[in-house]
Amino acid sequence: MPRIRQLPPSVVTKIAAGEVIERPASVVKELLENSVDAGATRIDIELEQGGTELIRVVDDGHGIEPADLPLVFASHATSKLKDADDRCRIGTLGFRGEAMASISGVARVTVQSRAAGQATGAELSCYGGDLGEVRPWNGAAGTRVEVRHLFFNTPVRKKFLRAISTELGHAVETVTRLALGNPALHLVIRHNGRLVHEIPADAGLIERIGLFFGKDIRDALIEVPGEVGPVSLSGFVADPACDRGNARLQYLFVNGRCVRDRSLGHALQEAFRGLLMSGRYAIGFLFLQMPPDQVDVNVHPTKSEVRFRDSQALYHLVRGAVKRALLARNLVPRLQVPESVPEPTANATELPPASMYQAMPEPTPPATVASPPPTNSGLRTHDSGLAAASLRS
Ligand code: ADP
Ligand code: MG
Repeated sequence: MPRIRQLPPSVVTKIAAGEVIERPASVVKELLENSVDAGATRIDIELEQGGTELIRVVDDGHGIEPADLPLVFASHATSKLKDADDRCRIGTLGFRGEAMASISGVARVTVQSRAAGQATGAELSCYGGDLGEVRPWNGAAGTRVEVRHLFFNTPVRKKFLRAISTELGHAVETVTRLALGNPALHLVIRHNGRLVHEIPADAGLIERIGLFFGKDIRDALIEVPGEVGPVSLSGFVADPACDRGNARLQYLFVNGRCVRDRSLGHALQEAFRGLLMSGRYAIGFLFLQMPPDQVDVNVHPTKSEVRFRDSQALYHLVRGAVKRALLARNLVPRLQVPESVPEPTANATELPPASMYQAMPEPTPPATVASPPPTNSGLRTHDSGLAAASLRS
């Protein structure tokens, strides 16, 4: 009979990394989220070979105390949670304290940081889980993280990496999501020394959408009227004339975090019912803001899915608000809804009267509405050769 053994930490880290770090874009996501959590106003991202050779993220956030540097690489070490109760009111993008440990278990990572107001900073490297020594470092205030040789010790994972252009496409998609979710953030991304995108801090949401997805979509945006209450919804959908063959341009942000949600994707599609041919998908950039205790973000290793306390109410909120936005544009001649549409309810979680949607019985969300894996479809980039290549791949 096989005996039970406790796995050594190096194996545990690799297994944990397997869940969270799938490709260079996963590293980019974790590093960017850490920078946002550190209050950065500007983040510079540099990639080499689609991020397989180098990922460098430089931020102007609050930095890390030299004494805390070794803890950055420790599993379950975080500055974002204090006790189990905090878990239920997460206001940061990260909270598990696992990302940096996972990344440094499968790559060579150097963290250089100077805390705001400190004269000097410090640096520390970790290679495949082996920690170096903390040394003084005198760079700018903020944090600079370099990740090299990703998957050097996990050849199987390395084999799954795709063409450089594909990996770059995934990384740019990650940056796109962060840029849309944080409209005051200045972001610069370079690949192999060439500028891919620069998004200035003063570029608002509409401008950002134009930058990433092109003028046609930007000019076709329809504002989804804000809903107030414990749960608020805002954002844009695009005129149905801009429909797509897949759901890739359906972005949903919950408290600033870009997530996939089959049910809300379906609500968006339902709001467009009668305006889209079958097999066509709406474009939407929707932002939900809700008290942290209304949503559990601790249900998915990469936090790309969440669980809502009242998903039914959110379904109706999204479908109703988008439909009202379309009605206001007179875009819905084929929709069988009453002519007078009730004002948004003061309490946004309150369901609209059932009669409003009598012509549209409550459907079961089909599997096809789930958000697809990230790509940079529709992307405009200065590095056009690479973007075109990644679009094709
Ligand atoms: P988490 O983000 O879940 O806390 P991570 O493994 O991503 O876990 O990071 C561990 C800790 O390292 C963070 O809690 C934070 O204190 C610190 N850290 C990582 N990156 C940065 C950064 N760019 N700026 C400031 N602190 C950082
Ligand atoms: Mg983190």
